[in-house]
Amino acid sequence: MHLRENQHYDVAIIGAGFSGSMVAAHLSRLAPRLRVLVVEREGAFGPGVAYGTTSPEHLLNVPAGKISAFADAPGHFLDWLGEHRAAVAALGVAGFSGDSFLPRILYGRYLRDLFHQAKQSAPGFETVQDEIIDVEPEGDHLVLTDQEGNRITAAKVVLALGNFAPGDPPAKDRSFHRSPRYLNAPWSAATLRQISPEDDILILGAGLTALDLILSLGAKKSTGKIHVVSRHGLFPQPHRTHTPQPDWFCERELPQSIRAMFRLIRREIRIGAAKGVDWRAIIDALRPHTQRYWRSLNLEERRRFMRHVRPVWEPHRHRVAPQVLAAKDQMLQRGQLVNHAGRVSRIIDVPEGLEVKLVERGKPGESTLRAAFVLNCTGPECNYYKLKEPLVVNLLARGLIHPDPLFLGLMTAANGAVVNYLGQPSEKIFTLGSVQKGMRFETTAVPELRIQAEALAAELLKKRPGLPACPPRREIGDSGNILLVSNRGPNDFVWQDRCWVPRPASGGLVSMIEPLSRQPDVTWFCCVSEPTAANSAREALWTTAADQTDAERHVVPVPLPARIYQAYYGAISNEVLWMLQHHLAGQFGYSSLDANRHHAWNQGYLEANRRMVVAIRASGIKPRAFLIQDYHFYPLPGLLRQVFPDIPSLHFTHIPFPDAATLKLIPQSWREAILHGLLGADVIGMQTQWDARPFLGCCDELLGLSVDYPRSAVLAPDGRIVKVQVFPASVAPGEVRRVLRSPEAGTARERLAAHLDKLTIIRVDRLDPSKNQIIGFEAFGRLLETRPDLRGNVRFLAFLVPSRTDLGVYREYRDAVFSTISKVNSRYAGECGFEPISVFYTNDREQALVAMEQCDVLLANSREDGMNLVVKEWAIASERPGVAIVAETAGVAAEFGASALQISPLDIEGTAEAMRWALEMPAAERQARIERLRSKIESWTAQHWLSAQLEALNIERLWPEAHPVIRRAA
Ligand SMILES: Cc1cc2nc3c(=O)[nH]c(=O)nc-3n(C[C@H](O)[C@H](O)[C@H](O)COP(=O)(O)OP(=O)(O)OC[C@H]3O[C@@H](n4cnc5c(N)ncnc54)[C@H](O)[C@@H]3O)c2cc1C
Repeated sequence: MHLRENQHYDVAIIGAGFSGSMVAAHLSRLAPRLRVLVVEREGAFGPGVAYGTTSPEHLLNVPAGKISAFADAPGHFLDWLGEHRAAVAALGVAGFSGDSFLPRILYGRYLRDLFHQAKQSAPGFETVQDEIIDVEPEGDHLVLTDQEGNRITAAKVVLALGNFAPGDPPAKDRSFHRSPRYLNAPWSAATLRQISPEDDILILGAGLTALDLILSLGAKKSTGKIHVVSRHGLFPQPHRTHTPQPDWFCERELPQSIRAMFRLIRREIRIGAAKGVDWRAIIDALRPHTQRYWRSLNLEERRRFMRHVRPVWEPHRHRVAPQVLAAKDQMLQRGQLVNHAGRVSRIIDVPEGLEVKLVERGKPGESTLRAAFVLNCTGPECNYYKLKEPLVVNLLARGLIHPDPLFLGLMTAANGAVVNYLGQPSEKIFTLGSVQKGMRFETTAVPELRIQAEALAAELLKKRPGLPACPPRREIGDSGNILLVSNRGPNDFVWQDRCWVPRPASGGLVSMIEPLSRQPDVTWFCCVSEPTAANSAREALWTTAADQTDAERHVVPVPLPARIYQAYYGAISNEVLWMLQHHLAGQFGYSSLDANRHHAWNQGYLEANRRMVVAIRASGIKPRAFLIQDYHFYPLPGLLRQVFPDIPSLHFTHIPFPDAATLKLIPQSWREAILHGLLGADVIGMQTQWDARPFLGCCDELLGLSVDYPRSAVLAPDGRIVKVQVFPASVAPGEVRRVLRSPEAGTARERLAAHLDKLTIIRVDRLDPSKNQIIGFEAFGRLLETRPDLRGNVRFLAFLVPSRTDLGVYREYRDAVFSTISKVNSRYAGECGFEPISVFYTNDREQALVAMEQCDVLLANSREDGMNLVVKEWAIASERPGVAIVAETAGVAAEFGASALQISPLDIEGTAEAMRWALEMPAAERQARIERLRSKIESWTAQHWLSAQLEALNIERLWPEAHPVIRRAA
């Protein structure tokens, strides 16, 4: 069955386990005529994962008297059992009482009955077996799409998605994840069917699911060995009947720390034990307070709990029927079950099964065991970023849901509304159950879920006037947040396992602002495209909201509709501004500005800047200062000044800034928007004086403003003095060295060794026309032509990073570069005995740094460059030592002076001559040059670059270990 197209519902419930089916049951009672659709991908409505088991040995872990589906009718399940005695007896259960732990199958049937009755009593109630893969806002309703592309609409949606299969355990060698002997669907009956009675198996995890499996193997008369491994080797504790104790916790002040809380619990247990009170009674008395207490803890305390206390807390809190443990203990005594405390260090797929290396607590070295199957029972995957469920991926990509900071589930509001990536609770999408673990902690079992289901049904029927107030997020004290704004977010993409996956970006702008973004009162706004579907977005290399957020930083991705993003980022920022500012206009990017380009300026570039302001306002975050990055956001400081007139701001341009004559190659209204926009800032940051002076000149010549050249300041039209300051970008030497020490660098060293057997020239840059690769390779060809003795004795290793491949002009440029390379190679390969130019067309930072470490010459002949940080990284990495050839038109040339060989970027002859000189330079001179460069870089690192900008805005340094800021005359 599939969704019936073009239907509209008041409420659509996705998932019909306990949570979804009980919300439906309450709605059918409260509003029988409401149009409610319940969608469940498995056939059964009611039982869900937990009670859909077909194994009678799987028991409830809550006694029958405490697991009624209704909080206000505690005997409801017992009554149902009384009416279904035959079904109870058929499962071999002789009798039952409120204290009995009954088969979960029975509870599943009970829920199925409840659901059926609800459906019968409500004419507006419909069900469908189907999987929903997307929920998308459209107008004032939501559109739900199934796997076949059928769509319906609903005013409100309940996500009752429940528990997901366990995540694959992290391991260095993850190849076993693909082995058919590694089973990670522990709740599926198919898992058990694959195991033969004589198979030895290993179970990862020792919780309730592991016990289910152990019991099932026992019921199957399994004779093979069952190994169980868990961090502490602790199974859940048994339930025991005990007299409920008075609420010992309710009158107390909430302990501020987890440590204080556990001291208190231990003390209470000691006092209770002296009076003969069971420890279970003390722990159970806490249950009504757990959610309130969890909410009172700050993030660090919650983290501490997860790290240190949870492994001990869980087996005591989530107890199990005594008969389950008795069966497990018998197997332990027989020696069939072996319990290990420790961790798996490696699992290797061998012909006879899986070879498992264990590191056990208190035992030296590694032990090895063989298993026919490894079963993953480590608990449901709660990190929504790791889930591959299409619905979750799409909701994340749309920014409609947002993981909680501990990755235990999603951010939700008190009424069950999901919270979007801006921290705003939804008016239309709600959830309940284990997904709220990060927010409520105690939220997975029936006693909590039945309360949530009833409350949510009432909430769905409420009519809400207007928007709920947007809660401010992560405000520290009264001083507000520093807001970083850049086009790119903190993550990059790498091609892995045949798809693009995000990983923390390295190098360039992002790495320079990254340390600031980790400070607690900093929020990072970046642009992402709003895709039609997350998966297709990744294929086209669009960056999505889900790709850019993480728990360590407060990142706010601002989604732009794909057509606006393309106009803002592609048609204007890259094809016009980037090309203009690198003096490539007419040659690459654009040669004229037609109506489409004007449209892209107005509806793309300016619109993206306007939307950024709206997003910053809507976030409710109180700004303390704005740090705005680069040419994508020239108009932004001016727009922000209108909304936040008193908040200081700094705009930094990372690329060369053009003079007035060059800026005249774009229309007057555009250049005025750029210049006036920048003048909205208090401080305008540039890489070098070569950029600061043209900016001052533009204000003077194009805007007619009063400019103080000696003081490098402009009198803005609103009467403010705007400073223009130089902050040369730099690198973090410690980080470069750390990467060079990493295991990945070690592997790259081995891989590159065969290419480093001759004299070596390298280049490391994005495949971008401004990098001028073609002339670099032609110059190398000329070197081989004029110096036959070098043929066969020198290699050129080109580490070319794919860039902006979605733009036609970049693809054409890439083809032209490869054609130049192949011309040089085909001419000299015969005489050299190998192709003299080798290309590494990838974004592999470790490999590139190793090449920098080992090369004789680095060529950085950019046509023009704001700074060129590769040259600075090379100076830190270089071991041989090497020599740098740098274009005079790169910002770095001004800083490096005569310590690098300087060339004019279009001069093929001069570049070939510089290569010859660099290859032959005596060792002592090389050494002296590299030492001068290094000390220069160490005295002005990326951290100095950041600190100086904060200081320019009168903000004290944010990190204690910062070097003192060294003021530089640029
Ligand atoms: C093995 C096990 C045993 C447990 N035993 C107990 C117990 O004894 N006592 C107790 O109190 N608690 C127990 N629990 C806790 C349990 O989580 C809750 O009691 C409850 O069953 C959770 O119900 P749920 O509806 O939230 O989730 P689930 O039961 O997981 O239901 C979610 C449903 O959503 C469906 N779904 C998901 N995505 C989609 C989609 N995109 N489209 C359509 N359908 C979708 C799934 O197919 C599933 O049926 C147990 C949990 C597990 C896993």
